[in-house]
Amino acid sequence: MSSGRVAFVSGASRGIGAATASALAATGHRVAVGYASQRDAAEKVVAGIEETGGEAVAVEIDVRDPQSVDIAFSAVEGRWGAKAEIVVANAGINRDGLLLRMTDEQWSEVLRTNLDGAFHVVRRATPAMVRARFGRIVTVASVAGSMGSAGQANYAAAKAGLVGFTRSLARELAARNITANVVEPGPIATDMTAALADAHRQELAASVPLGRLGTADEVAAVIAFLCSDAAGYVTGAIVPVDGGLSMGR
Ligand code: NAP
Repeated sequence: MSSGRVAFVSGASRGIGAATASALAATGHRVAVGYASQRDAAEKVVAGIEETGGEAVAVEIDVRDPQSVDIAFSAVEGRWGAKAEIVVANAGINRDGLLLRMTDEQWSEVLRTNLDGAFHVVRRATPAMVRARFGRIVTVASVAGSMGSAGQANYAAAKAGLVGFTRSLARELAARNITANVVEPGPIATDMTAALADAHRQELAASVPLGRLGTADEVAAVIAFLCSDAAGYVTGAIVPVDGGLSMGR
């Protein structure tokens, strides 16, 4: 079944990344399941993929650190003797706080993980795609990046940065048959939103035209499409998966 390409998904031990790893494996790709600290969770994702006949490997990666990124990609190349032609820069964190109280540390941790991290991962993956004359790059941003989000200036800035980053790649790499797209999820039921107060989560759900939080699988399905051969004419797109939250902007 795993006759497809090699895919690398950062932040795949949980949430949207885990669902994306499973969706990509279900379409026949061998998937590197990146995790930062939750090795057991990543191994569970791998086991789930293997149970359904797919092929996957858990790889430790700290996207903030270019050396760690290089070691992770090299490990995958060593394991499968093939380089990733699909990369999903999904790893992300939030450290919310109102601007007046936001610390330098809150700001820089979020920028380093969510924006620098995507740069490190995609830069490491791109030379092989250029050589292969094929590539699929998807970055996972957020509606917060385009709509703004009170209490999330750091997070929204990083996510807006991903849009300029990804669209620049789309232009730079188009001649090499490499696509680069951004997915902008709205509120999705994962650990990230589970950490919010119940009342805040209900408010979020009520602000979405579809009236609920999305699921990680619903985001993963869109990412998997953008990574498919069928999406060969889609590049530089921002694709919302947000229950209608951002429509009309
Ligand atoms: P999540 O459940 O909190 O999982 C975060 C993932 O990122 C985990 O796999 C974690 O690894 C990994 N990670 C954290 N720091 C890392 C680092 N320094 N290096 C490598 N990996 C790291 O998150 P999620 O809700 O699925 O979100 C996934 C992406 O979607 C994020 O970019 C997030 O900003 C974006 N997004 C989420 C929502 C939402 O409502 N959930 C909405 C819009 C956008 P460990 O498990 O090892 O810690």
